[in-house]
Amino acid sequence: MTAAPTTDGVLVDRYGRVARDLRVSLTDKCNLRCTYCMPAEGLPWLAGPQLLADAEIVRLVRVAVERLGVTEVRFTGGEPLIRPGLVGVVGAVASLTPRPRISLTTNGIGLHRLAPALRTAGLDRVNVSLDTLDRARFTTLTRRDRLADVLAGLAGAAAAGLTPVKINSVLMRGVNDDEAPALLRFALNHGYELRFIEQMPLDAQHGWDRTTMVTADEILGALGQEFDLTPDPAERGGAPAETWLVDGGPARVGVIATVTRPFCGDCDRTRLTADGQVRNCLFATEESDLRGALRAGADDAELARRWQAAMRVKRAGHGIDDPSFLQPTRPMSAIGG
Ligand code: SAM
Ligand code: SF4
Repeated sequence: MTAAPTTDGVLVDRYGRVARDLRVSLTDKCNLRCTYCMPAEGLPWLAGPQLLADAEIVRLVRVAVERLGVTEVRFTGGEPLIRPGLVGVVGAVASLTPRPRISLTTNGIGLHRLAPALRTAGLDRVNVSLDTLDRARFTTLTRRDRLADVLAGLAGAAAAGLTPVKINSVLMRGVNDDEAPALLRFALNHGYELRFIEQMPLDAQHGWDRTTMVTADEILGALGQEFDLTPDPAERGGAPAETWLVDGGPARVGVIATVTRPFCGDCDRTRLTADGQVRNCLFATEESDLRGALRAGADDAELARRWQAAMRVKRAGHGIDDPSFLQPTRPMSAIGG
């Protein structure tokens, strides 16, 4: 891999995009089996020694924050709440200087119990995934009867001050695509901020089909039947969600239209997998091994240099529309969504 400059202290690519938002996957395992993400039987999980230890995660995040200009750290997975050391990792990252903003993407199971400790440790806010409000549908969609736990997790997060609490929803045709207005009403009633995510070709089963995907236009059309949506005047920056004011605001709703309205030109993300690989894009087909370097004794400067080199070669776009597009070998649950 080409060596990148080590002196500029940022993660910059050939197109001038600077990555300040780090997504860290804490585990590839999960206690749900969402059909658009994992097969019913689960996946061949990473073995213990392959996973970064808590101290290794904190070290790499420290390198990103202290040497590479990362200002946002988002923990994800798999399901990050099932990582035993989560609270300690959050606490260690919150004590870094400059302190990054820290958030968590979770399915919400167990969040009710963990939210106060996470808040005390320094977690700023959460994104909770919730695709349906109907118990039978939830059970079909996630293959587990856990809707009540997710709703309790949302309430627990809000009570603990992990705000704004955001909800991520993926709509699937013929499964829950009639629920967009109900999900928005639910979010408005509880003070949560809802964002719909277009389904992406990142499932382990390779079942994604563009022709059946529920698009941003369809979602906005459905919401428009019941709500008055106006473009949000707030600056979008590198945020993946395009947002709208609902009925004049201040409540908002967002759509992450990765497939039909790609935002790659403004992407400010870098990713670290649970086994210590840097990915410069969700859809990257190549990774850069920091775990090996770290365990071989690399110092912080060397780790930073390798991370910069990995980001330097980020592609201009995800290329989902190219005939040559290849779905990454790693599924979403092992990359960290
Ligand atoms: N388990 C946690 C959760 O569900 O929030 C964190 C990991 S999950 C991979 C992160 C997000 O990715 C979730 O909001 C989930 O709905 C979304 N996701 C998973 N597979 C997806 C796919 N194929 N297309 C779009 N979003 C997906
Ligand atoms: Fe688990 Fe999240 Fe994937 Fe659902 S989307 S199976 S909760 S990792």
